[in-house]
Amino acid sequence: MANALFDLTGRTALVTGSSRGLGLAIARGLAEAGAALVVNGTDRGRTEQACADLVAAGHEARAMPFDVTDEAAVVAAFEALDAEGVAVDILVNNAGIQYRKPMVDLAAADWRRVIETNLTSAFLVGREAARRMIARGAGGKVINIGSLTSEVARATVAPYTAAKGGIKLLTRSMAAEWAIHGIQANAIGPGYMVTDMNQALIDNPEFDAWVKGRTPAKRWGKPDELVGTAVFLASAASDYVNGQIIYVDGGMLAVL
Ligand code: NDP
Repeated sequence: MANALFDLTGRTALVTGSSRGLGLAIARGLAEAGAALVVNGTDRGRTEQACADLVAAGHEARAMPFDVTDEAAVVAAFEALDAEGVAVDILVNNAGIQYRKPMVDLAAADWRRVIETNLTSAFLVGREAARRMIARGAGGKVINIGSLTSEVARATVAPYTAAKGGIKLLTRSMAAEWAIHGIQANAIGPGYMVTDMNQALIDNPEFDAWVKGRTPAKRWGKPDELVGTAVFLASAASDYVNGQIIYVDGGMLAVL
């Protein structure tokens, strides 16, 4: 690695929702910086395939499919890692879903499902990771994936917006409680990126034109464009950065 500050050799990173999309791009980026990876998703086949692709590219990776909303499954996954002697040094809370519906038509079950997947999961997985980081006494890194909706709202995505706003302040709560243990908790707020989650919006000419017009960069973001920020927040380069959210959005939040 050209710069030792960003070298992740010897570290293990768990990236939730890394079977595809932004999580997979971040996982690949952390692996290229030297980290061993724990790949996660709910779909076993997709998770194992993503893991096999990382291994084929010369990286160390293991597949660990589990549902981040299921407390027992989260605890069992960390116990399985404990049993294998694998310690998570870097946690990326990335797994998430979107659900679009005007609030007046929104069922409470759908509200809860989005909050559980996009916010409660970061607490659950974060708690299990931090308990172990604190016990080991070697510090660690938590990177939560927020959104532009950590800051601003759009119609029809209220539970997503509430969850991502929560991610920003959960990140600060983690920093408040865990900084003393040498753990840095920060967040990344991606702008509009090309992934499966956005495929319907990319295919909608009106929405596509809105994103391109509204973003100073005049284009959608590519998943790989999150890698630099993720490696920075996972590495010694950010050892005195804590509780922050960094927007990687082509300038969208900076302008009206
Ligand atoms: P994708 O839909 O492309 O991928 C989502 C990933 O999360 C998949 O790997 C999926 O695995 C996993 N996942 C979903 N639910 C669960 C669960 N309950 N347990 C474990 N894994 C789960 O989404 P993106 O890559 O676009 O988004 C990733 C994150 O980035 C999300 O938090 C999203 O909110 C956020 N984000 C995305 C933006 C974008 O423009 N794309 C912008 C801002 C934020 P599987 O399919 O196996 O369930």
